[in-house]
Amino acid sequence: MTRIRKIALEEHFMAPGFQTYSKGYLQHIDAVVMADLAKRLADFDDIRIGEMDRAGIDFTVLSQTGPGVQGETDRAAAVGRARENNDFLAAQVARHPTRFAGFAALPMHDPVTAANELERAVKQLGFKGALVNGHTQGKYYDDPAYDAFWERMQELDVPMYLHPTDAYAMPHVYAGHPEISGAAWGWGVETASHALRLLFSGVFDRFPRLKIILGHMGEGLPFQRWRFDSRFAVYSHGIRLAKKPSDYIGSNIVITTSGVCSPAALNGAIAEMGAEAVLFSVDYPYESTAIAADFIEQAPMDDATRSLVCHGNAERILKL
Ligand code: MN
Repeated sequence: MTRIRKIALEEHFMAPGFQTYSKGYLQHIDAVVMADLAKRLADFDDIRIGEMDRAGIDFTVLSQTGPGVQGETDRAAAVGRARENNDFLAAQVARHPTRFAGFAALPMHDPVTAANELERAVKQLGFKGALVNGHTQGKYYDDPAYDAFWERMQELDVPMYLHPTDAYAMPHVYAGHPEISGAAWGWGVETASHALRLLFSGVFDRFPRLKIILGHMGEGLPFQRWRFDSRFAVYSHGIRLAKKPSDYIGSNIVITTSGVCSPAALNGAIAEMGAEAVLFSVDYPYESTAIAADFIEQAPMDDATRSLVCHGNAERILKL
């Protein structure tokens, strides 16, 4: 069977020495499952490429698993960890350049340092952009100090994958409910809120060519576009934007299908934002590569749309 060309871009690894950052995320995972995840996160050869081959995934863009450098509390140490991670990843990509590319980890603790590392990763290591695991120690990137970072990112013409993380302070609504505070729900709310902070603070008006990628079918944002326009028209709190809020969701903000293998949700997201705003991804090794690949090959859509979602949009946005 010939399978449609597929590119996946929320695909994680664990660099040596990064285990301690992920403890909070992984502590509730069963020991046997965790051992299997650890093995798959550390592998860049037969396990990972075998799984890609079986699912017909031609190319993946790799990123450090969360929270990575965002979990480092020491600003100076974060710079070293980011460089270490990016050099490690570049060496792995160089071993399989026809199958892998890299997203940089960034020390967002300081905007200019982060911009410098992004520039090094793009220009010297050939990375396709960055994957940042949400806020850095409670800092969100709508802060005006980050304009220096966004300006450089726009100049370099690469996207940022804004990946979920835990809320900085656990919202009271999750008290006693760990089943919804994390990956199942809380991470999505946290990440969508971060993206909305960027949107409403005018980051995309100041840097109109910026691209932010959200996973997990856009963390719910595609389905609230109408309401953002309707409520912002009434409750703008003095904020002025060049366009309607919905106009940024699908242009500056694009999404991947990682971890939401629902044909109905996919069709809804495409209907809201257009076929050029939705990109296939898996979220390896936390989601099933086989299920994700079968889903994207079988979900009802025309051939032109499927080509864009499976590979065309990634090729355009990442300049592959
Ligand atoms: Mn992920």
